Amino acid sequence: MECEHRMVYEGAVNVVIKGDVDGVVDVWKCTKCGKTAADMRRVGEPVLPDKVGMGQMGQIDRWGIIACSGNVAVEWHLILAPGSMQHSCNALGQCELEVDEGGNVRCDMGHIHKFHFISGHINSKLVIG
Ligand SMILES: [Zn+2]
Ligand SMILES: [Zn+2]
Repeated sequence: MECEHRMVYEGAVNVVIKGDVDGVVDVWKCTKCGKTAADMRRVGEPVLPDKVGMGQMGQIDRWGIIACSGNVAVEWHLILAPGSMQHSCNALGQCELEVDEGGNVRCDMGHIHKFHFISGHINSKLVIG
């Protein structure tokens, strides 16, 4: 049977780029099945609690950040590993990404994307660039 999730706030991860907090990942956990949902927001953007549980869910150790370093800026997206996805970013363009359970990234265009797990960084910071 599908779990009727009861989400509670688990904590936040501060995403740090070049010494500054660029954004925050909010993590929510179901008190029944233990699965987690995560949302990202840039610094200054409000939290959107109505979205909780609407997106993908997975065990906490599967969530991570894919960081895309272009010439000018670092861009980041929240994903679940392992998984494969169509990916598109302003930094590098479009590609097909595959992330294994160890967090290793394969990109069909040969782009440099780095993956960072967020577990272990909850209520702390994660430096991605
Ligand atoms: Zn649940
Ligand atoms: Zn990218």
